[in-house]
Amino acid sequence: MPNGNYLGFDVGGTKITAVLASREGKIKKRVEAKTRKLKGVSDLIGQIHSIGKQFDSYDDIGVIFPAPISKKGVSLFAPNLMGWGVVDLKQRLREAFNKEVYVENDATAQAISVKLFDRGKKYRNFVYLVVGTGIGGGIFVNDEIYRGGNGYAGELGHAVILTNGPVCGCGRRGCIEALASGRALVRRAAENSKEIRNSTFLSSIPLDRLSAEDIFSGKELGDPFCTLLVDETVYYLSVAISNFIDEFDPEAVFLGGGLMKNDPKLVSELKESVDHELGKYYRNVPIIKVSDRTIDLAPIALSIYESSEHKKV
Ligand SMILES: [Zn+2]
Repeated sequence: MPNGNYLGFDVGGTKITAVLASREGKIKKRVEAKTRKLKGVSDLIGQIHSIGKQFDSYDDIGVIFPAPISKKGVSLFAPNLMGWGVVDLKQRLREAFNKEVYVENDATAQAISVKLFDRGKKYRNFVYLVVGTGIGGGIFVNDEIYRGGNGYAGELGHAVILTNGPVCGCGRRGCIEALASGRALVRRAAENSKEIRNSTFLSSIPLDRLSAEDIFSGKELGDPFCTLLVDETVYYLSVAISNFIDEFDPEAVFLGGGLMKNDPKLVSELKESVDHELGKYYRNVPIIKVSDRTIDLAPIALSIYESSEHKKV
């Protein structure tokens, strides 16, 4: 009998987070484990299933992955989870759990969580951008998540904003992910060895241990090179966000991801830069940071969204 609790798994490149939560978004139990990603997909599905044994009394299950997932729950490839080809994740997880399982790309599920558990409730049309090690996104159109023809829509990180720019993981050049993600920020710093030598702050950090967080700390301390790197990141992101505003006419733009946590002023700097970038097409689109809870609840939001209400509307 349904009891209104849902089990969700966020399967990341480094760790798996499992949460049991109510329909209202109250988290009742949480378990974390290091992702076993090198032994192939059967082993990973086995790991998810065995973590699930630590939970009981739930209705449906939501599982989210950092990979493009089709409408049928099939993953094309998972660049952060090595050794995958095309995998029918939904079918294999259903067999493991002997229950209904919903499978989705992580950023798409986070956008659904923004709609169900964050300020996305107020808006029928919005764009969500997650800026972390990589960049992903999700789009709500007329109160529905937009999945496109096959389910792959919302790969906003691969919008090209600089032709002949740096090569992206997807194989194209100048994608926003190759310019403004956490990984790109570190790469842009490392490429300028002369600037690093001249920076009292960065020259004290071994290059192979340099993180995006360090660069934000450097900016905070007034280091000119770190300030330039963060300013460039804000500029690249604002060009991309302005494109999304022109393309989708959203009522709001939501931002999540690790990079947003590094600097409390980042959202207001982005807003200012986007307003400038929109030029004659200026309109006041709020830019809103999402809460950590919204990210935690993403696989739960996916189950709720898929299993009930929106299907009956
Ligand atoms: Zn790309």
